[in-house]
Amino acid sequence: MTKVYICGKLVDKADAVVSVFDHGLLYGDGVFEGIRVYSGKVFLIDEHVERLYESAEAIRLEIPMTRAAMAQALNETVAANGIRDGYIRLVVTRGAGTLGLDPKKTSDPQVIIIADSIALYPSEMYQEGLKLITASTLRNHPQALSPRIKSLNYLNNILAKIEGADAGCVEAVMMNHLGHVAECTGDNIFLVKNGVISTPGTDAGILEGITRNCVIKLAREAGYEVREKTLIRHDIYVADECFLTGTAAEVIPATSLDGRLIGDGKPGPVTKNLLERFHKFVRNH
Ligand code: PMP
Repeated sequence: MTKVYICGKLVDKADAVVSVFDHGLLYGDGVFEGIRVYSGKVFLIDEHVERLYESAEAIRLEIPMTRAAMAQALNETVAANGIRDGYIRLVVTRGAGTLGLDPKKTSDPQVIIIADSIALYPSEMYQEGLKLITASTLRNHPQALSPRIKSLNYLNNILAKIEGADAGCVEAVMMNHLGHVAECTGDNIFLVKNGVISTPGTDAGILEGITRNCVIKLAREAGYEVREKTLIRHDIYVADECFLTGTAAEVIPATSLDGRLIGDGKPGPVTKNLLERFHKFVRNH
């Protein structure tokens, strides 16, 4: 029986419930993380815990436990469920309150940890590459709700994901309010041109992906030049390679955008090299 961490305890899945007055449900008022477990170990736990607390701070939500206690709760939940290779969903809601917006009238923020198996992209997609479309739905305006906050408001991304699905694509490229490339609905985007790797900077209206940061570091260690810079759709069309990074996807090639092939339409050598290096890093983690 799956055990879920909630209210400081591990309980059976069926007993893991929150109030219908929780502002996480009523207003999407909360933050979350998606974290990988490899060989029984929580991957980049400190980075994920840190991003969670930063997201919470940005929405003025005080998480009612220390970072160390959070890390311990994550490890305990993984152990209680006997997860070797899987996925953790960590959620912190504002807690139950009145039907009004005022977060001051809420109490008891809920810390919820679910450790489960992971849904991966099929292996053919790693061999052949993903097809992408450009979504018409923009990423959040950074001055409305910063995309750097991993909040429980994912509606833009969900609408873009639906646009992708309607076009037969599992991912879609989202632009920011300036018309620059931001990221995909649940993955960061990278391009390779003449051996140089580029990706939108953190000011482009993106979630600063933990896989993104890890891949940038691995790429630089491997001797590649990595530039964080403004990218427009033209850059994708003329790139030699394109790949996406994310907790579930790791490093996955993308080989077409809006029906136009990227490079020769096949996963390229830099992408393959970085996926290999990422796997090696995970094994040694
Ligand atoms: N962008 C968005 C919008 C995301 O939700 C995610 C996480 N699924 C990512 C990028 C990738 O971030 P990470 O590498 O931390 O999973």
